[in-house]
Amino acid sequence: MEAGAGRGALIPDAAFVEAGAVVGDPWSAEVVVKVAPPSDVEIGKLSAGQTVIGFLAPRNADNKIGALRDAGVRAFAVEAIPRISRAQVMDALSSQANVSGYKAVLVAASESTRFFPMLTTAAGTVKPATVLVLGVGVAGLQALATAKRLGGRTTGYDVRPEVADQVRSVGAQWLDLGIDAAGEGGYARELTEAEKERQQQALEDAIKGFDVVITTALVPGRPAPRLVTAGAVEGMRAGSVIVDLAGETGGNCELTTPGETVVVHDVTIASPLNLPATMPEHASELYAKNIAALLELMLVDGKLAPDFSDQVLADSCVTRVPEPEAESAAAVAD
Ligand code: NAD
Repeated sequence: MEAGAGRGALIPDAAFVEAGAVVGDPWSAEVVVKVAPPSDVEIGKLSAGQTVIGFLAPRNADNKIGALRDAGVRAFAVEAIPRISRAQVMDALSSQANVSGYKAVLVAASESTRFFPMLTTAAGTVKPATVLVLGVGVAGLQALATAKRLGGRTTGYDVRPEVADQVRSVGAQWLDLGIDAAGEGGYARELTEAEKERQQQALEDAIKGFDVVITTALVPGRPAPRLVTAGAVEGMRAGSVIVDLAGETGGNCELTTPGETVVVHDVTIASPLNLPATMPEHASELYAKNIAALLELMLVDGKLAPDFSDQVLADSCVTRVPEPEAESAAAVAD
């Protein structure tokens, strides 16, 4: 492992050594495991036959997949692991989305000028906050559950009708706008222009009634859908809060500034990036379990021998390079 790779998650090098790791140069290992995509400098340290695993952002326009392939490196992008039951334990998108959904509610609560729970006090009764979650995948479902635990009155909305039961299962109401945009692989498809307009108009009306709006809507490989217009923000009560988790792909709210918290029309709009990094202990623990399960799938008698007839490995492998000679060592880089 690279010295200090665990520092951000408060795991000292000594703990890795105790677990049997060697601290040194990870770039010559047979398998290099990362969180973020490798930089050009890091790719320069790799040679043909090595394997890289991590969030490789294969759908981003500036991805490094071509450079990894040209270097003869076999690369597995955790984003491309299929959403099938058997692969749940390896699903790093899900494990990190859980962290984001949870933390988004805490950000909303801390920015809010109001309580989340109902309070009955000698000085009067406080009504519970109303919380609307737009886009109820893994992050959205966790946000609904967390907001409920904090005492909020929760509502969920998505374009995949199958989500309605999941929303109700965490004690939230389902907002039905009559748009069905279920796509492939459990993801949503992009809406048509007419659907977008209809959705924005309907949401503009619905959003007015909420103290907190948390948005998590994504369409793989596309800019984030615009769900919350400037007009919708203007219609919200002063002191309301929007937490936009889609900032990395442009944001679900028209007035979002990715990575910043802005106040417009007396509404606070927060768009924190990379929320899992703000909870490094559990984010790392979950990611490590995902990676260990994926590595295990590639090992045969302790040797790296990925079987590409396995859908999980075939889908997640994003570079096709000649088979390297198998040896059994893995390294972790920061
Ligand atoms: P995601 O991050 O791609 O998108 C978040 C949500 O935004 C999705 O629910 C999507 O439907 C919604 N969305 C997209 N466009 C929208 C729009 N215009 N308006 C409103 N909502 C919109 O989703 P995700 O969290 O990666 O989850 C995708 C699916 O995969 C879910 O059905 C999830 O339950 C499923 N999943 C399955 C497994 C498994 O079985 N192994 C594991 C993880 C996730």
